[in-house]
Amino acid sequence: MLTSGWKSVSMVDVHGKVTFTLWLCGCNLKCPFCHNWLIAEGKECFPLDRGALLGDLSSSSFLVDYFHITGGEPLMQWAELSSLLAEAKELLPISLNTNLTLLKPLERLLKAELVDHIATDLKAPPAELYGLPGEASKRLWELFLMGLELISDYGIPLELRIPVARGLDQWPWIEEGLKHVDTDFYAVLNPLVGPPLTSPRNGAWCSEHCWPEREVEGLKERLGEIGIRTYVNRFA
Ligand code: SF4
Repeated sequence: MLTSGWKSVSMVDVHGKVTFTLWLCGCNLKCPFCHNWLIAEGKECFPLDRGALLGDLSSSSFLVDYFHITGGEPLMQWAELSSLLAEAKELLPISLNTNLTLLKPLERLLKAELVDHIATDLKAPPAELYGLPGEASKRLWELFLMGLELISDYGIPLELRIPVARGLDQWPWIEEGLKHVDTDFYAVLNPLVGPPLTSPRNGAWCSEHCWPEREVEGLKERLGEIGIRTYVNRFA
């Protein structure tokens, strides 16, 4: 299993919770704003020392709400992840950050009751934010919507993250996504952040669309108007 490491106590990975966070390598998307793209592309990665991880998880568990797995896209390594979660679940509830496009592996984990909380990004418009050709983005968006329904069917609590971009009309996609959520959830607006704070995959794209301004307040207001509990991450 390839990882880029873990952090025993983190206050920033799930809203309002303390997590033990593990980063797994590989991803099936090419998001232009991604600042974990080295992990997503399997660079700066090494084999996971499972014994060391579980030992650290055990000694940190009294401080922590969730064992949070992120990446990259953790479901790229779903078979090994499933076996790891079966052991880790004895120690802590599990929170999975997934892009919600690899549904078969996700359903296996859900069926095995290995996931207690999910975080996902609603990437809008998908043709811009997935960083892939139009047809592929369209198909991935359909999978994402089915993923929201799958989570709802299993009644898993959801942190619905919305990366906020500058100069793009994101609302129609957000509205469509919300129609597919029927579980306990809240939204987190994440303004896209570029240099000097991060090093995104596509600097030119980011100079056009990172550091949104009035878009954040606009989306917060619209989500509030339809009764969605919404938090805003402020990075600067
Ligand atoms: S932002 Fe997430 S889904 Fe997109 S490329 Fe990066 S790791 Fe993958």
